[in-house]
Amino acid sequence: MEEVEQAIRDVQHFGEEGGVVPVIDVAATSTFLDPADMESVFHGTLPGRYLYSRHANPTVTAFGKKLAAMEGMEAALGVASGMAAIACALEQILPEGGHIVSSRTIYGGTYALFANIFPGRGIRVTFVDPDDVSAFERAMEPDTKVVFTETMSNPLLGIADLKSLGKLARERGALLVVDNTFTPALVTPSRFGADAVVYSCTKYISGCSDLIAGAIVGREKFIEELVDINRGVVMLTGPVMDPKIAHLLYLRLDHLPIRMAAHSRDAGHLAARMEEAGVPVIYPGLKSHPQHDLMKRMMHPEYGYGGMLTIDCGTRQKAFDLAARLQGEKFGLYAVSLGFSRTLMSCPAVSTSSEIPPGEQAKMHLSPGLLRLSIGYTGSPKVMWERFHRCWKEIF
Ligand SMILES: *Cc1c(COP(=O)(O)O)cnc(C)c1O
Repeated sequence: MEEVEQAIRDVQHFGEEGGVVPVIDVAATSTFLDPADMESVFHGTLPGRYLYSRHANPTVTAFGKKLAAMEGMEAALGVASGMAAIACALEQILPEGGHIVSSRTIYGGTYALFANIFPGRGIRVTFVDPDDVSAFERAMEPDTKVVFTETMSNPLLGIADLKSLGKLARERGALLVVDNTFTPALVTPSRFGADAVVYSCTKYISGCSDLIAGAIVGREKFIEELVDINRGVVMLTGPVMDPKIAHLLYLRLDHLPIRMAAHSRDAGHLAARMEEAGVPVIYPGLKSHPQHDLMKRMMHPEYGYGGMLTIDCGTRQKAFDLAARLQGEKFGLYAVSLGFSRTLMSCPAVSTSSEIPPGEQAKMHLSPGLLRLSIGYTGSPKVMWERFHRCWKEIF
C-alpha cells in the first residue's frame, strides 16, 4: 500500500504550540527585520524566505510538499484551478512559443485552451489519437517541447501508455506533461517518465465539491521557476492558491487513498453488475476495457481502477431520460465535475466536452448519448444497483 499512503503520511508539519495540524498562515506579506534581506530576496540570492503571498505562502508550501511526496516528485505548487495549472505549466515550458503534441481525448476546457488561446500566443498544438503511440511519434516536430496527455482520458476513460510516451518525449528532447486528475493515488506518472504532473484538485483531491483548485508537480527547479519574480508565469499572471484552501487540501490528502479505494470498490461493483445485465458500460476495471491490461500494469492495485464509468445510451434524449430518472431515484446528481462523495452524472457531448467541435468529437468516438458517471462511495452498492437497474429497465 502503502508506498503512496506512507509517502503522504511521512510529511508532517506541526501547528504552532505543537498542534497536530498546521496553522493557516494568512499573512499577505512578511516582515524583514533587516531591509537588506528584502533586497536579496528580490535579487534571488536569499532563497526560502517568505516575502509576499503571491510569491510563496507557508500553508501552500506545506500542501505542495505533501502532494509532491505522494507523486514521488521533488516539488509541487498549489494554484487557483486545474486550468491555471495546465495553462501556467505549459506557458512556463514554452515562454517563446513552440509546439505541443497532445492527446485529442482531453478535458473540453483544455482542448479549448489549446485550440483557441494558445495559437495566439505562439503555441501550436497537434492533436492525435491517445491510444496510438506511433501517432504521437509521427506528429513530433523539431520544435516540439511537450507531449501532453491525461492518464485516464476525460470522458472516454482511455488509458495512456505513459511509459512509451515518456520514452518518446525523452528521445526527442521534449517533456511529458500528464494530467492525472482522474487517477490520483491510483497511478504515479513520475514512475513512467512524466516530467510534470498537473491536477484539477477540484475533483478527487478535494473530494467534497466545495472548492476550485489545481496543482503543478515536478522538479524543484521547474516549480521555483513558476514563481520567479521576473519570469514566473504563476507569479506574474497571479492564479495562486488561497492558504485556506491549501490547508483544507493538506488535510484531505491524508484520506485521498482511502477515498479512491472506496470509489473504486463501488464503481467496480456497479460496472460488473451493469455488464452482466447487458448495459453498454465502459470501466477500466472490466476485462472488456481495451486498455485493461495496461491500466493493471500502471496502477497501484490496492486502490482499484477508479470511480469513473461511462454508459453509451445511443442518443442524447435516452441519456437525458436515464439521467433524469436516476436523479429522481436519488441514484446520483445531474451535475458536471467528479470526485465527489456522491455520484455525479453528465452528458459530456453537450457539457464538459461541448467545446470540442462535432467533427473532432466523432474522431475521438465521443457518442452524443454518452453518460459519464463519477461514482460516489456513500450508500449501499447493492441498493444503488437496484435503483440503477430499475431506471435502466424503464427506458431500455
Ligand atoms: C476539471 C478538469 C480540469 C479543469 O480543472 P478546474 O479545476 O475546473 O479548472 C482539467 N483536467 C481535467 C481532466 C478535468 O477533469
